[in-house]
Amino acid sequence: MKIAVINSGSSSIKFQLFHMPQGEVLAQVLVEKIGESSSQTILKFGEHKIIGNYVIKNHHDGLENIISMLKEHQIFEDFTALDAIGHRVVHGGEEFKNSTLIDERVIKTIQELIPLAPLHNPANLEGILVAIKKAPFVKQIAIFDTAFHSHMPQEAYLYALPYEMYEKHKIRRYGFHGTSHAFVLKEAAIILQKNVGELNLITLHLGNGASACAIENGISIDTSMGFTPLEGLIMGSRSGDIDPAIIFYMQRALGLSVDEVDSMLNKKSGLLGICAKNDVRTIIEVDDEKSKLALDMMVRRIKKYIGAYMALLGRVDAIVFTGGIGENSSYIRDAVLENGFTHGIKILVIKTNEELEIANECFSILKK
Ligand code: ADP
Repeated sequence: MKIAVINSGSSSIKFQLFHMPQGEVLAQVLVEKIGESSSQTILKFGEHKIIGNYVIKNHHDGLENIISMLKEHQIFEDFTALDAIGHRVVHGGEEFKNSTLIDERVIKTIQELIPLAPLHNPANLEGILVAIKKAPFVKQIAIFDTAFHSHMPQEAYLYALPYEMYEKHKIRRYGFHGTSHAFVLKEAAIILQKNVGELNLITLHLGNGASACAIENGISIDTSMGFTPLEGLIMGSRSGDIDPAIIFYMQRALGLSVDEVDSMLNKKSGLLGICAKNDVRTIIEVDDEKSKLALDMMVRRIKKYIGAYMALLGRVDAIVFTGGIGENSSYIRDAVLENGFTHGIKILVIKTNEELEIANECFSILKK
């Protein structure tokens, strides 16, 4: 069975072709800088890496280009060779608790959720619409970043705001990185030789964006990202948790606009805001005062979330580190675990694979 996974961003398309259920990657294509003169397509298969420098005007061109490169290198003939296309969709709101076959209604709902994810859902939707046009007879499946967290109890997902903010305006914690937390949960179950449904874990996805998740009996019961991916841990360029009144102060006393504050908190804060760098590798190497401070702050925040989730869960079978930083940086892992407060809990480092998780989801939907 051949399943393609599409992660369509505002200026990029990441495409992977899987042979399922083995999970073997047959090809990977990255289309970058869509709409710019420097756009390019990079195809990788086996040991090969081929760069196509066609100008990609839009997502339609991008997908067209992917197909022609795959054809040219005899990886597949056309989309009819596929059993399904799995699409990453960032926001599934309260509507989607599971991955789902895409039909008119699903498209309409993803569209209606755009106000909740104005940067991501339009690009995800664009990828879906183009794929349907190119491959109308292939099953298209949506996999949502929020779905894994959709079973959190109300006391976890509600903010202590007037209740109508939730009821009327859907303001609540949704959580993100769900495919990654779900993937490492299943991998942890294999490593620990337990059923997913009996595992209590704290999973830490530490990449450029970062989130922690408390998993009880295989279900996400709390997570650090909230209404948007801004809440929680200190990230590459996002502040994570701050006193919300700082935002009023910035507007009233410093005269910043809503957009300026939004951009500051999302793009100029976090590690970048403290030490002017957001790549943890560089920050560790540089080792000046501000870099050390930025890392100490990030580590402290992670510790606080682990402590909180240990209290919520009672029993924790393992703490899982994943994402670029979690997988690669023993400096950060050691700093987080320093002082032995997790004594007796297993520590796992698991490489995440969100694309494979999406392919697995597609496979299980096709099997039904
Ligand atoms: P994204 O959220 O963009 O998918 P990744 O999960 O790829 O991000 O993680 C990117 C982060 O991983 C960067 O901050 C980078 O510094 C960090 N990283 C990657 N390799 C290492 C390493 N060997 N040591 C420390 N940090 C690393």
